[in-house]
Amino acid sequence: ADTEIVLRVTDLQVAYGGIQAVKGASLEVRKGELVTLIGANGAGKTTTLKAITGLLNPASGDIAYMDAPMDGIRADQRVARGLVMIPEGRGVFARMTIVENLQMGAYLRRDSAGIKQDIERMFETFPRLKERADQLAGTMSGGEQQMLAMARALMAQPKLLLLDEPSMGLSPIMVDKIFEVIRAVSAQGVTMLLVEQNANLALQAAHRGYVMESGVITMAGDAQAMLVDPRVREAYLGEE
Ligand code: ATP
Repeated sequence: ADTEIVLRVTDLQVAYGGIQAVKGASLEVRKGELVTLIGANGAGKTTTLKAITGLLNPASGDIAYMDAPMDGIRADQRVARGLVMIPEGRGVFARMTIVENLQMGAYLRRDSAGIKQDIERMFETFPRLKERADQLAGTMSGGEQQMLAMARALMAQPKLLLLDEPSMGLSPIMVDKIFEVIRAVSAQGVTMLLVEQNANLALQAAHRGYVMESGVITMAGDAQAMLVDPRVREAYLGEE
């Protein structure tokens, strides 16, 4: 069961008008894996995630999630099936409290006892959120909002969690904290696809990695092997 494919993207192409942003990308994520997609600014990583979630329509190619083709399945229907994304910039509801944000994450669930229990679990994982439970989300720091975005996404009981640049705009200490949380969530068995520009931290946390350059996957493999690959080190880990 460890090799069960949760997501399979085949020859994905996505364009904005005449601009071809993704030019034939293939990747897969298996159950329980933390897979990272790294690459420079503008490589097409966010566009790939948006196609997977249904926010953008592919020009061609196939996206299969839990063995089902996602063609014609709306974004909200994908969320209902457990395909949940935390967008770049977090997307928390600034004018709602922390608790209200967590409840929104569970809006498709009907098990109110389970929801309550999960909110308590989130407070254990993220003590900071408990301290601030009744505070408006918009008043929290960027790092705290990223924690909240993560907790809110987990409230939806995702079968695949897509993270877009969770470290963006955060202080080094906060970045370390966020990656601690990502590792902990992964260790709990949540399957994740992580887009990051911080290739070093992403590969350290991940099981496998893909490199995207100009809309094409140019490298793929075991994350630990990629960390020591001279081509990756030179291009993405700031080494000569
Ligand atoms: P970043 O980390 O900066 O988001 P990325 O790898 O996620 O980089 P994308 O955001 O997917 O890259 O962008 C891929 C290409 O598509 C870029 O050339 C970008 O300029 C272009 N692009 C992205 N969004 C749009 C849009 N809404 N309209 C037109 N072009 C876009």
